[in-house]
Amino acid sequence: MLIDVHCHLNDPRLIDDAPSIVADFPKDGLLAVVNAAYDRESAQIGAELAARYDSVYATVGIHPHDAVFAVPEDYEVFAELLKRPKILAVGETGLDYFYDKSPRDIQRRVFREHLELARAAHKPVVLHIRDAYGDALDILKDARHCLEKGVLLHCYGGGAEAVKDFSRFDCFYSFGGAVTFNNGEANRASLAAVPRDRLLLETDCPYMTPVPFRGQLNYPKHVRLVALKVAEVLGISVEEVEELNKQNAEAFFKVRF
Ligand SMILES: [Zn+2]
Ligand SMILES: [Zn+2]
Repeated sequence: MLIDVHCHLNDPRLIDDAPSIVADFPKDGLLAVVNAAYDRESAQIGAELAARYDSVYATVGIHPHDAVFAVPEDYEVFAELLKRPKILAVGETGLDYFYDKSPRDIQRRVFREHLELARAAHKPVVLHIRDAYGDALDILKDARHCLEKGVLLHCYGGGAEAVKDFSRFDCFYSFGGAVTFNNGEANRASLAAVPRDRLLLETDCPYMTPVPFRGQLNYPKHVRLVALKVAEVLGISVEEVEELNKQNAEAFFKVRF
């Protein structure tokens, strides 16, 4: 059975269909999904979904795009939600220097604040890093005391070489639709460089739609297309990929799905 470790059912484009998407999980071979927050409202919606559906879990945090809007009360709301057993991690947080939607100094500050939140709540952290892997490494080194429960680099795009650098931390790496892209050679090389016991699968839906559905909305069920490609790249069966993903997801999130 498949687990999508990073999706956005809380996205305005998916939320109205969430009941039917979740109802189809058994038919689609999905055991569970982890819904990632990107701001306070989406965190609250994710928490509601997790409360309503057995197979939905959630994280709480502010995306680097929205870092400029972060206020102290956000962390109070997140700290309360993190007391619930199905709120598994802090995130997605991190740095995005590709879009630069929030000023970089504010992104770095809000990233550090999220790491402190994870430390206080004894939870792992889900990271979104784009074109900022050097700065992310520096911040993680400084905040090593906040990483006791582990780090997940979602949509890992740091390259095969950087896997060594991040593996000095308790780091997991998740891969999504990009592994299926025609121009995804670098992503597939990264995938091959990641230790098997650190590998996870995601969709990041509604974004990152895998081949052959590019240009359409993405859904959690498409994690199967990611699993098939990962199996092909690693030269193992899709059943082995599913089992690895389940074991690793349970190791990272400290829960039995
Ligand atoms: Zn992201
Ligand atoms: Zn995301």
